[in-house]
Amino acid sequence: YEAKQTGNSPAFYAPESDHHSAERLGLLADLRRALENPDCAEIAMYYQPQIDIPTGEVVGVEALLRWRHPRRGLVDPEVLIRVAEQTAVMSLLTRRVIADVVAQVGRWHAGGVSLRASLNVSVRDLHSGDIADYIVAQLAEHNAPPYLVQLEITEGALMADPHRVLATIGRLDRIGIAIALDDFGTGYSSMQHLRRLPLTEVKIDRSFVLGMATDPDDAAIVRSIIELAGALGLRVVAEGVEDDPIWRALHAAGCHVAQGWFYARPMPADDLRGWLARYRPIVPLPVASVVDSV
Ligand code: C2E
Ligand code: MG
Ligand code: MG
Ligand code: MG
Repeated sequence: YEAKQTGNSPAFYAPESDHHSAERLGLLADLRRALENPDCAEIAMYYQPQIDIPTGEVVGVEALLRWRHPRRGLVDPEVLIRVAEQTAVMSLLTRRVIADVVAQVGRWHAGGVSLRASLNVSVRDLHSGDIADYIVAQLAEHNAPPYLVQLEITEGALMADPHRVLATIGRLDRIGIAIALDDFGTGYSSMQHLRRLPLTEVKIDRSFVLGMATDPDDAAIVRSIIELAGALGLRVVAEGVEDDPIWRALHAAGCHVAQGWFYARPMPADDLRGWLARYRPIVPLPVASVVDSV
């Protein structure tokens, strides 16, 4: 497992690297303990801005889970989700994420900031309609309109139990919650999903985006996803936009929205306020003049 850096924090703790299942059980017990205490500060949502490439405007944020374990430090969310997903702890976790994010969106909205937050849900979360009921209840409790919340799902969710998952997604759509297809290009990318689901957005996996300025194959994949999604009327978001060459390449390819360290790392809601106040739109030069200057 590759250690990675997020924000200014140290590399994530990744329990899988030690292969001790006792370790994982301990971690799950700790997670459950943290989730059962609503005041536990170990768990927090971080928010990463999403920027409309042509105008430089902030169009939303993705909410990303951070768990700072008292002894192990920051736990890699990807590993954490993989461990939790096989257990009932997952639905506790998802409820916490939904409650935190909807409450935050409600506070922004009340303060005159209509920032849409996109949150990640996993396969099992969509196996029953409960998640839709829970979101509706949270929206009502926090006075947040449904159009300010979006769910990101991966295609793995659709393979596991397509009928139940489709029913849940249909309900979310009727409530007015937008659905994004996350990590597109990895897993079981199927044109059927793009056609049959009530999607509004496709997110290109960062593995392709990161390579697009240096690897022609990655660039070709990114361009064709942008073209395909665009032709189907879907908004295309690129994640993992780390630097200027990637950002320029995405702009030239006609990508709508970008998210990545080039703009900002995921950060606590309190820091986001200051970031938004300081942010000045970064607008690319017209494509033609970029080409002329090379
Ligand atoms: P994801 O939904 O695809 O999220 C995007 C990931 O890319 C995040 O990793 C984000 O920090 C990272 N990222 C953003 N910009 C850049 C960049 O410029 N360069 C690089 N190298 N990475 C960038 P993170 O926060 O570690 O989350 C990893 C995955 O864990 C997420 O992938 C998602 O699948 C899962 N996850 C995170 N939070 C939650 C949650 O609340 N619920 C669920 N079910 N899954 C979550
Ligand atoms: Mg996501
Ligand atoms: Mg993704
Ligand atoms: Mg991912």
